[in-house]
Amino acid sequence: MHIEASVEVSGESLGAIVDGFKKYPSIAAKYLVKFGLARPENQVMEVDRQRWYPLNDWIAAYDGIAREIGYNSLYGIGRSIPENATFPPHIQDIYSGIASIDVAYHLNHRKNGQLMFDPATGTMIEGIGHYHAKPVEGDNRIICVCDNPYPCDFDRGIIAAMATRFEKQARTVHDSESPCRKKGGESCTFVTWW
Ligand SMILES: [Zn+2]
Repeated sequence: MHIEASVEVSGESLGAIVDGFKKYPSIAAKYLVKFGLARPENQVMEVDRQRWYPLNDWIAAYDGIAREIGYNSLYGIGRSIPENATFPPHIQDIYSGIASIDVAYHLNHRKNGQLMFDPATGTMIEGIGHYHAKPVEGDNRIICVCDNPYPCDFDRGIIAAMATRFEKQARTVHDSESPCRKKGGESCTFVTWW
């Protein structure tokens, strides 16, 4: 997807993903340096968590790392994101958990210097796609459509970890009938049930 140049990702969010690459420090370092996200003299883990980074540079670096380590590894990295995060008290079940992914995602990005979610008004700024979560009425099932620039397997890991946090038996799979970003589609669709 096209991302405007003014869109940035928080160092906090970037750092959490880079932590997931700790098994591949030299590969991660190579791409972080190549796209200007880390200085060559810095260790790979030393992403500045106080800073904001251009999202396009981060997606390019992420893509380079993913291609070398294999897209399958991104599932585990995605899983580690909610496992290591703290959640506000109103996130108490699988529905609010999966719905909160899109809010957290926007809170960790900004456009023209402005946070892309305003907790006071609930307003979201468009420009980075979404994690659209829809519960299926009358069934223990949530459909999540991801049309953001992050990789397919990474998103499945995030949703799966969020789901099992609240429903131990929950399973999350890619809907094989829907498009996939790995195959040039604009979105991926994941089904979670429990
Ligand atoms: Zn996909």
